Amino acid sequence: QPPSTYEPLNENTVVQFVKKLNYFTEDAALQVREIGDGNLNLVFHIVDESHAKSIIVKQALPYAKVVGESWPLTLERARFESSYLQKAAEYVPNLVPKVHYYDESLGLFVMDDLSSHLILRKGTIEGIQYPHLARDIGTFVAKVTFYTSDFYLHPFEKKQLVKQFINPELCKITEDLVFTDPFFDHETNDFPTEIREAVEQLWNDSELRHEVAKLKFQFLTQAEALLHGDLHTGSIFVTPESTKVIDPEFSFFGPIGFDLGQFFANIILSYLSQEAHILSSKERKQYQSYLVDTLKQTWSSFKQEFSKLWENEGNEVYTQVPGTLESFLGKVWVDAVGFAGCEVIRRTIGLAHVADLDTIQDLTQQYQLKEKALELGTYFIKNRTQITNMEQLIQVFYQE
Ligand code: ADP
Ligand code: MG
Ligand code: MG
Ligand code: MG
Repeated sequence: QPPSTYEPLNENTVVQFVKKLNYFTEDAALQVREIGDGNLNLVFHIVDESHAKSIIVKQALPYAKVVGESWPLTLERARFESSYLQKAAEYVPNLVPKVHYYDESLGLFVMDDLSSHLILRKGTIEGIQYPHLARDIGTFVAKVTFYTSDFYLHPFEKKQLVKQFINPELCKITEDLVFTDPFFDHETNDFPTEIREAVEQLWNDSELRHEVAKLKFQFLTQAEALLHGDLHTGSIFVTPESTKVIDPEFSFFGPIGFDLGQFFANIILSYLSQEAHILSSKERKQYQSYLVDTLKQTWSSFKQEFSKLWENEGNEVYTQVPGTLESFLGKVWVDAVGFAGCEVIRRTIGLAHVADLDTIQDLTQQYQLKEKALELGTYFIKNRTQITNMEQLIQVFYQE
């Protein structure tokens, strides 16, 4: 039950609310628009044109609409989201919107307006290149995860932080929608009958299910570091010069490879879908090679930054023992490949799809690409320990 002080704001009440925060002048004529696109939250864009000032208010709704029904969902996710953004700002202030205010009883927080940026998924569907994206995301994941891990924090501090990010309800959504439902004949799945044969093949693949079970169990149990938890290309705002990570309401302590794997998977889905989005084969190859570079550079930036932090700022005694860094990075890589496989599959046949594939007008082509995505995802999951580096991973989808 939401607290009695809670009410979902509307365009009138949100103005009354922000006026009390003294961010705008008393007499400012504010313009408001609700710009959210989801089923979980309200996002208000509030502008004072005469002073060229603007702000975003994001409010959690006490329910989520899933398969036509309303499911109660904790308002606490506004706290998870704003706390994560504030924590990340300690290490990568230029890569997140600044949080100005958090209100527990209304389940909302106020942050910088990033309207000058574009959601990365829209940019990649349009074929736009972002030269700093890979370095920024690699650095982002490396810093946020290293500084919240046992390699850096005192074990008491680490466990204190873990407690603040116990996020069972949002984790359950991932456990179901990423790791479980797509691998069973579950009612939340959503795919055209034309690809049903390929989907049934996946459901009948016991080796695949066995490997997904391992990945799900890792997600459930491995509190390596603070994760964003939903790092797909719809959670990243970009311009060619700037990268901002948003929407960390799924944040929790989990295996580091999960954030990287989700990002990789969404870039891979973009790669596949360019077959339909960019008609000129020369331009398409160019853009796909940019996406491949993005994958490579994200991993190499992550590795480089994480290694530097480990060597210079590692406090855990074993960080100084030769070989421990390499074996940990090896683990993160294998996990990332496996998690990427799960994400590719669930975005193709699960509840939440990606516009990259679903907007493809030629349905025959759309279904072919979806089947290809299922093959790739399956291959990543089953062969993740054999795919030892990014070159090999990329080879897999060149061969397809
Ligand atoms: P949800 O959790 O509902 O997915 P998001 O945080 O992803 O919410 O925001 C939904 C949409 O609202 C984004 O795709 C973007 O268009 C807009 N939005 C969110 N945060 C901001 C912001 N700080 N500045 C400008 N627009 C934003
Ligand atoms: Mg959304
Ligand atoms: Mg979102
Ligand atoms: Mg969200």
